[in-house]
Amino acid sequence: MPRLYAFNGLAGCVEQRRSRETGRLVGLYHAEQAHLDATPGPWATICEAHGHIVNHRTLALARAHLANPRGWCETCAQDA
Ligand SMILES: [Zn+2]
Repeated sequence: MPRLYAFNGLAGCVEQRRSRETGRLVGLYHAEQAHLDATPGPWATICEAHGHIVNHRTLALARAHLANPRGWCETCAQDA
């Protein structure tokens, strides 16, 4: 059985936290369990404020992106 992720009661959610960089909520998800497109990568980071989603090949890579949404959410990037 694969591990089921449901952080904060959200399907596929591995973790959610407020970014220290932007003060906005960001989430890390198991793409398939969260019913997201897993073709580009099995893990996804989501800017919960803007709905921007980026897929990653590994959980470690996804975690590395979670800390700074300015690097992958277009709206956060412009919101300096
Ligand atoms: Zn954002």
